[in-house]
Amino acid sequence: MTGQAPETTTSVEQPPQTETIVCYFCGSPDFTRLFRSRDRLHRVPGEYSVVRCNHCDLVYLNPRPNPARMRAHYPPHYVINQFRPAAKNAPLRQRLVAHQLERIDRLKLRRVLAACPLDSHAHVLDVGCNLGTFLAALRDRTGCSVVGLEPAPTPAHYAREHFHLDVREACLEDVADSFGPASFDLITLWHVLEHLWAPRRDLQIIRTLLKPGGTLIVEVPNFGDPLRRLFGSSWAYVDVPRHLLHFTPRTLRNILEDAGFAIDALERDGTFRAYSVTISSLFTLLGLSCEPDLEKSAYAATCIRYATWPLFTLEGLLGMRGLLTAISTPREQAVPADPRAHRRAPADA
Ligand SMILES: [Zn+2]
Repeated sequence: MTGQAPETTTSVEQPPQTETIVCYFCGSPDFTRLFRSRDRLHRVPGEYSVVRCNHCDLVYLNPRPNPARMRAHYPPHYVINQFRPAAKNAPLRQRLVAHQLERIDRLKLRRVLAACPLDSHAHVLDVGCNLGTFLAALRDRTGCSVVGLEPAPTPAHYAREHFHLDVREACLEDVADSFGPASFDLITLWHVLEHLWAPRRDLQIIRTLLKPGGTLIVEVPNFGDPLRRLFGSSWAYVDVPRHLLHFTPRTLRNILEDAGFAIDALERDGTFRAYSVTISSLFTLLGLSCEPDLEKSAYAATCIRYATWPLFTLEGLLGMRGLLTAISTPREQAVPADPRAHRRAPADA
């Protein structure tokens, strides 16, 4: 169904305002192009190639847009920015959207508390916290101290105004020094790692910010999922060009371990519903326009969901959830050998 055969190459045509890069993980310039795609969500012009590294199998966008061009792909109505909590007397479509957000936050909370018991002494950082609804729920449930990072001004402002959260309108590298080493018991990245320009550097920063024995939770789309193979470039999580990287269980493990983490659990599951991605992928595959206004599409999505729930329950039971969640802890640093002991060794022998 994908319609495009992979082609081995080390170079592709470079559109304007883009940069050709080497592999984020191993630095190799050799790759195989898997397919070309466009911004099918917001229909911003431009075609991009998704490639797989010939050395380590990491899948990434190459060339990638430069920051100026990328800004056009995150318009104010970017779909993630449209989630909002809703009052009980709000119109039904607003409550349907709010219900989706509540469900995602409820699953995040469950995941976090199962992995990492938190109390009022704990400190938590959520990188890419959006509206801060998850952080507010976590704070209210456990009494822990929370900080969020959100580079988009509108959701960052919302988090501060509505939940009185400490949300910095910044990327990790800009504010890491303000926290100090070993500041946090838990750091979370929900659907953030695949958007980062320098994921290895950011993971290394996160490692220094975590306390010894602290927990890192990362949720990303699973490029190794059977539905991705079925839908190919139409799989909704391809999300060109916002998703700069695509992970399989192996490449996610590689990049986390390389940054100094030991993986406690790597689950093929997450907090987004499988059916919504499948429906979006079907619409993309069939060339139907997807309504980018979440509230307008809320009725349709709910009707489709109830009409097809047996299918998507089966999809979930078969493990085709399209997501990966890694729970990891900073590895113990190797203790440097005592130089005196090293000098004594030959004599002792
Ligand atoms: Zn590589």
